[in-house]
Amino acid sequence: MPIVADIDDLSMLEFDFVVIGGGSAGCVLASRISENSACSVLMIEAGHLIQHPLIRVPIGVGKIWSRRLFDWHLNSSKTPSLNNREIELMRGKLLGGSSSINAMSYVRGAPADYNGWRDAGCDGWSFDEVEPFFRKVENWTGPRTSRRGIDGPVTVSPAKSTDILYDAWFKAVMSCGYEVIDDYNALPDLAPLEGFARSQQTIGNGYRVTAWSAYLAKHLQRSNLHILTNTHVARIKLKNNHADELDLVTRRNQHRSLKIGGTLILSAGAFHTPHILMQSGIGSEAVLKRANIPLLIKSEDVGRHYRDHMAVQINFCRKDKGEFHHNMRLDRIGFNFPRAALFGKGPATKLPGAMHGFAKLNPSALVPDIQFLFRGAPKDAAPWWPLISSGYEDGFGIRPVLLHPASHGTVEALSDDPLKPPKIDGRYLNEPEDIERMLKGIEIAMTLANAPAMQEFIADEQSPIPSDRKRRIEWIRQTAVTAHHPCGTCRMGPENSAPLDIDLRLRGVDNMLVVDASVFPKTISGNINACVYMLAEKTAAMLTSASRGL
Ligand SMILES: Cc1cc2nc3c(=O)[nH]c(=O)nc-3n(C[C@H](O)[C@H](O)[C@H](O)COP(=O)(O)OP(=O)(O)OC[C@H]3O[C@@H](n4cnc5c(N)ncnc54)[C@H](O)[C@@H]3O)c2cc1C
Repeated sequence: MPIVADIDDLSMLEFDFVVIGGGSAGCVLASRISENSACSVLMIEAGHLIQHPLIRVPIGVGKIWSRRLFDWHLNSSKTPSLNNREIELMRGKLLGGSSSINAMSYVRGAPADYNGWRDAGCDGWSFDEVEPFFRKVENWTGPRTSRRGIDGPVTVSPAKSTDILYDAWFKAVMSCGYEVIDDYNALPDLAPLEGFARSQQTIGNGYRVTAWSAYLAKHLQRSNLHILTNTHVARIKLKNNHADELDLVTRRNQHRSLKIGGTLILSAGAFHTPHILMQSGIGSEAVLKRANIPLLIKSEDVGRHYRDHMAVQINFCRKDKGEFHHNMRLDRIGFNFPRAALFGKGPATKLPGAMHGFAKLNPSALVPDIQFLFRGAPKDAAPWWPLISSGYEDGFGIRPVLLHPASHGTVEALSDDPLKPPKIDGRYLNEPEDIERMLKGIEIAMTLANAPAMQEFIADEQSPIPSDRKRRIEWIRQTAVTAHHPCGTCRMGPENSAPLDIDLRLRGVDNMLVVDASVFPKTISGNINACVYMLAEKTAAMLTSASRGL
């Protein structure tokens, strides 16, 4: 078993590749690099292996979120543009990282997103160049086309939930002049991403597919693969611009060192990656000074350009109760949850969020501005028992998500204590244009809800959103939340101000790459986990074809 929770239990102490973080990107990299038995790989993860049914069973995600299980418990700082609220910023702290607690939506983004990366000087990242790596990720179980991968490790399936409400939604979409599309991840002739569709989910044989389950769980027999869990990477020690050693904090809170024999890959996610760099003396001069950390490499953009997808949710009460509500009766869910955990069958394997939509606000744009997530159950959906109550009031929600925010924020170390969380200031919706686009997204959502097909199902709007513009803006600021897609905090770019070059090598260090959501030069048009998998696949191919590390 290559998983150990104690550095003293490692069977060797120098590796060709050390990967920090066992999340979406880290698992892909450790898996692909260790395919070559001549390369030794160590992946270090602060969390550990958790095989909880709430992770395996798709419907368990509700409990994971409401109780903030397997999470780093990060929050934003008080945000003036959100009425001084601190918002939750969940991140998975376990093998599989955030892929083990996410909502399982699989979205590649728009082809034009990646062409935009190329146009910004990131040669090699155009859609044509990244598409083969999306295909390499996928085991797509929907209708076959040459543009989807069918033998990759990540099973991606069309949403299986059924509810007459979903049919009504599509009728409403068409009656309002929007298009219903089949596969938003492979539009014919690379058409711009626009339209409404059933969602695609990382669910296979009824179980959540995580980076861990897809990429590593089945390769634990590899003798060149080593996984160290329960170990927090505190900082990277540099020697002559070379990543030389890691300073680790063990589960017993002891400080230990590990020599880096070869290439170091930092994949700790969009919040922790810049934090580890800052703790190591790599970052903005002013930020490090305030945190009392000696500056070793000045890289002003480490921790800057933090972008996230913000969303609001408009909730409606339903006239009749739907299928999901029926299935949540205590005796039914009490039978169906273990059934799903044991056999991957039954209603607990299907998520109520079964639809996505992408809308442009400017017809000539190549990328959509707003994504619509349709949630076929209310937020307080929970098991109920008829002798006690008739259950929660059934309803559904439409969630417009702002895809390309002009607002961006920062992640900053607050002190030289690596265990103290960074300050995350998203400046969410700070730019007036973001509010304008969010208002338009809400208008589209309301138009769809007011279509006759949907009105048949709607009893009323739960806590109606204000119609007056000023009060509606206030409502946005009071209720907006993150869709959990932080990125850009250690971006790649051709210019020297970008912390990474376009092969994801950290400028100023000769044996180190960063590969995770922090490297995005610009965010993409949808949920970002597929893009992180693609990035890691492409980088692993680059490293293994070179067969030499850096
Ligand atoms: C609640 C939620 C819902 C989401 N829903 C979706 C969705 O439906 N679809 C989608 O596409 N995306 C979704 N996402 C986003 C997506 O899952 C993430 O963007 C993606 O997993 C990020 O991958 P990563 O490799 O950058 O980071 P992560 O997967 O977060 O991996 C980082 C890893 O590094 C470890 N780590 C951090 N610091 C240290 C340290 N100091 N030492 C050692 N290890 C460390 C962490 O524990 C973690 O395992 C969601 C995310 C969340 C949290």
